Amino acid sequence: SAKSAGAATYRFFDTSLNASSARETELLGRFKRAIRDDEFCLHYQPRVELQEFTVVGLEALIRWQHPEHGLIYPNDFISLAENNDLIVLLGRWVIDAACRQLAAWCAQGLPVVPVAINVSSRQLKDGALLETVMTTLEKYQISPDLLEIEVTESCFIEDFDTANKVLEQLQKRGVKIALDDYGTGFSGLKNLKNLPIYAIKIDRSFIRDIRNDNSDAVIVASTISLAHNLGLKVVAEGVESKEQLVHLKTAGCDQVQGFYFQRPVAASEMGRLLQRRKFRP
Ligand code: C2E
Ligand code: MG
Ligand code: MG
Ligand code: MG
Repeated sequence: SAKSAGAATYRFFDTSLNASSARETELLGRFKRAIRDDEFCLHYQPRVELQEFTVVGLEALIRWQHPEHGLIYPNDFISLAENNDLIVLLGRWVIDAACRQLAAWCAQGLPVVPVAINVSSRQLKDGALLETVMTTLEKYQISPDLLEIEVTESCFIEDFDTANKVLEQLQKRGVKIALDDYGTGFSGLKNLKNLPIYAIKIDRSFIRDIRNDNSDAVIVASTISLAHNLGLKVVAEGVESKEQLVHLKTAGCDQVQGFYFQRPVAASEMGRLLQRRKFRP
């Protein structure tokens, strides 16, 4: 399971890597080898709109298929990579892999939908993100509107001007931006006005008890109304039950993502799922 894999990884990094500079060098080597040896892969989870229950997009989620430790989930290595420029290296791999996969699905004649990748604040500060994205789209002949980027509130809180500028340029070129994990940033973001985004994804911590916790229900309802008033789409994350789905549809939420419809799956399985684009509620 995700939990046990995570626990194993933690021990793995903790015991073998101590002194900090040696640790960084070691980690860098490990990540580079893992990229070279094709140990990373992307899994895909559909985003479903709540009118016809059709798939309107996919989120690409990175996994590390470690030869000894098995499948390692991003929570166990992304923050390590974020502590230095490894995340830039890994981020480039993610952009390339997502575009390569889109091109492969197109070549198979599958009806493709936009793929969203997660981007860390450090990648926005890299200075080359725009160039990397545009070059990669070109390389695989992918239209910019087939790529989406998810950023968290922290990207704007840490360095508003940089985030705003880079994302605005991407948006101008047709790459859509969504604000991920909305609500977890302790409202460091004063408001959602004028951000270069088209959608917000409400964090799954607000969805989990939405039927029993009245304050969660109120937060979600007012977030939906705020977002709609600003012309933004609303996606609910972590929808696991029919009851949550019904609640969200009634509340006017636009789209959902979660285990209820589909867990993240490998590209081959997602290819099969793309053929039948519609879910039953
Ligand atoms: P996220 O972007 O908020 O992605 C959603 C996470 O929720 C994913 O976890 C997904 O598997 C999980 N999830 C989806 N539906 C459900 C549900 O119904 N219930 C529950 N309990 N969980 C659900 P995952 O794949 O472990 O990724 C965790 C986080 O790691 C992501 O959160 C994202 O912040 C980060 N991440 C993933 N891939 C990348 C990447 O390529 N680059 C960067 N920088 N970060 C990534
Ligand atoms: Mg995300
Ligand atoms: Mg999220
Ligand atoms: Mg997250």
